[in-house]
Amino acid sequence: MGTWLATIRFPDGTERYAEYSTVVGSTYNPLYPEVCRVGETLPSGNECYRDEAVGEPLPYDRAAPLAPIGELVLVTVTLQPDDDVWHALYCPRSGALVGPLSGFYRYALQEEYDLVRDGDGIRHLCHWARPPAVCGAQPDGERSGLYFPSLGMYWSGDTDGAYLDSPPAPDLFAEWNAPDICHPCLLAWLRKPEPAPAAASEPAAPSTWWTRRKRFWQA
Ligand SMILES: [Zn+2]
Repeated sequence: MGTWLATIRFPDGTERYAEYSTVVGSTYNPLYPEVCRVGETLPSGNECYRDEAVGEPLPYDRAAPLAPIGELVLVTVTLQPDDDVWHALYCPRSGALVGPLSGFYRYALQEEYDLVRDGDGIRHLCHWARPPAVCGAQPDGERSGLYFPSLGMYWSGDTDGAYLDSPPAPDLFAEWNAPDICHPCLLAWLRKPEPAPAAASEPAAPSTWWTRRKRFWQA
């Protein structure tokens, strides 16, 4: 439990750094310009025992409206200690990492969504592999086969080992720059508020491990 360093790499080679909390399973804004490596001296004067983001936090405006889709920047996030890598979107107007803020998003998508082609060949994200798509389109073509519901996930309510039997979950945001992927679908999925937690007297919402994470991002 604690925080790990997340390294954000931009297309021009720039690196920024952020903290990732293992408690909530999320990368945090703001981003930092520098990193202090193990064995170096932290700004506090203490020795650095775990790579840590340091320096003046880069300005970011939580309230700024999201940049138009064409201005969003595809970055990679590399998370210590296992160097897990996933693709995410960065908003240059707000200076914030938009998301996904956790590599676990791959499993969440795989568990509930498929990509379905429309008549123009565009792949849309469809909940439970059925139209309508997240963006509102009504694609009825070929499915990508992403969808792999995992009952174990609903039952355990936790991530540990629950997806071990699933096929590898693709990093869908890696395809952000592909000409046939629907940007509004991916972005709407990323920004869609999760339903409020059920009252204690109601049955628990499915996919609880993921909805908890995503609510935290959107808090
Ligand atoms: Zn779409």
